[in-house]
Amino acid sequence: MNEHDSERMKRMLESLGYAEAPERADADLILFNTCSIRESADSRFIAHLGEAKRLKSEDPDRVVGVGGCWAQSVKEDVFRQFPFVDVAFGPGQVHKLAEFLTSDSLTAQGFFEFEGFTGHLPDKRARDFHAWMQISVGCNSVCSYCIVPSTRGREVSRPFGELVAEARRLAEDGVRELTLLGQNVNSYGRDLRPERASFADLLHAVDAVGGLERIRYTSPHPKDMREDVIRAHAELPSLCEHIHLPLQSGSSRVLKAMRRTYDRGRYLDRVALIREHVPDCALTTDIIVGFPGETDAEFEETLAVVEEVGYDGAFTFVFSPRRGTAAATLEGHVPHPVKIERMERLVEAVQRRARERAQRFVGRTLDVLVEGPSRNDPTRLRGRTRHNKVVNFAGLAAPGEIVDVAITAATSQTLTGEESLVSRATAA
Ligand code: SAH
Ligand code: SF4
Repeated sequence: MNEHDSERMKRMLESLGYAEAPERADADLILFNTCSIRESADSRFIAHLGEAKRLKSEDPDRVVGVGGCWAQSVKEDVFRQFPFVDVAFGPGQVHKLAEFLTSDSLTAQGFFEFEGFTGHLPDKRARDFHAWMQISVGCNSVCSYCIVPSTRGREVSRPFGELVAEARRLAEDGVRELTLLGQNVNSYGRDLRPERASFADLLHAVDAVGGLERIRYTSPHPKDMREDVIRAHAELPSLCEHIHLPLQSGSSRVLKAMRRTYDRGRYLDRVALIREHVPDCALTTDIIVGFPGETDAEFEETLAVVEEVGYDGAFTFVFSPRRGTAAATLEGHVPHPVKIERMERLVEAVQRRARERAQRFVGRTLDVLVEGPSRNDPTRLRGRTRHNKVVNFAGLAAPGEIVDVAITAATSQTLTGEESLVSRATAA
């Protein structure tokens, strides 16, 4: 979501005549789009802000701006703590940045009331063939560890017709892969009046848009993951065989304390339904270790789910207490060394299972959307499968093309292969 918002900020600044400076020290405007999801994001940002302060003192005409979730969570306090900041705004007020920059105002200003979807602003895509589409903002869940509901506010869905029109426009503009974005995409549309639309309806409508070869979305919430959405993966040609289904914990007791509103059984039931309808579907997840009160036995339950499901990948996080959240004040703080040890064991299990799972691709020929040169070896290409696996391969294709790649090897993270030049010759 932050990447999406940053792309919109960049485009907005371009329309005001700004261009990206090669170095921070050369910039007239230093703008931060902040994240506050974990403490580490905050502390890294504070270090950057220190540098901005120094640069501003060298050249007081420089403007320092702070947008995003951190700004929203501290609001007007930002000006008390960091008086050199000129403008601050939350995730729903990105357009206010333009107003500030074009006004004559010399006084610091903050904008923190939700006023509009960042998705309404024109985009500046990092890759011509991929776009993000914000389908909703905010979150109505109350996960006890999470700062998002307080920084991004209540959930608001964008109108159905507007999204389908945007998808059509993006496809006409050369986009081949579209990722639908929301904090809980499955609850899309519940707040729309008078029209009623579900997330599955939206998937069907976007799939019907010609030219979009791949549709993805993030994140679904297991509590709202319904059969119609799972079936859509089997039915809709462009909806990719990959679902990111955040687990958080494999212990029902911990899930309850996290206020996730599903238990281990319900989660595994969703996984079984996915495997039934889309047997080859890649599954990835988010897991938190060291939630307050998490016992060794409860952590073992998380490991057991990892073993049982066999994820194709996972984002793993050490619990980070966030200001204003219920979990921040819970008893039963897990000691740091215990958290680290659990994390190491978790990562080992995730990677081992992912490596095992990835072997199913070896020997197959998969559709790969080419992104550009491979990061480690620029004589090779890098792309992604519909399962969202990165593939490094020998080939001749250009970025944005979808080509057949014969997979020859697989690790937990990446696949290796060769572009099938026979099919290329036939296609030509
Ligand atoms: N709306 C998405 C998640 C957004 S945050 C969802 O519910 O799936 C992305 C991930 O960050 C979460 O899934 C969670 O695993 C992690 N996370 C959020 N708050 C955290 C915290 N306080 N400490 C550690 N990890 C956290
Ligand atoms: Fe945070 Fe939970 Fe909402 Fe995801 S569903 S954004 S984890 S409160």
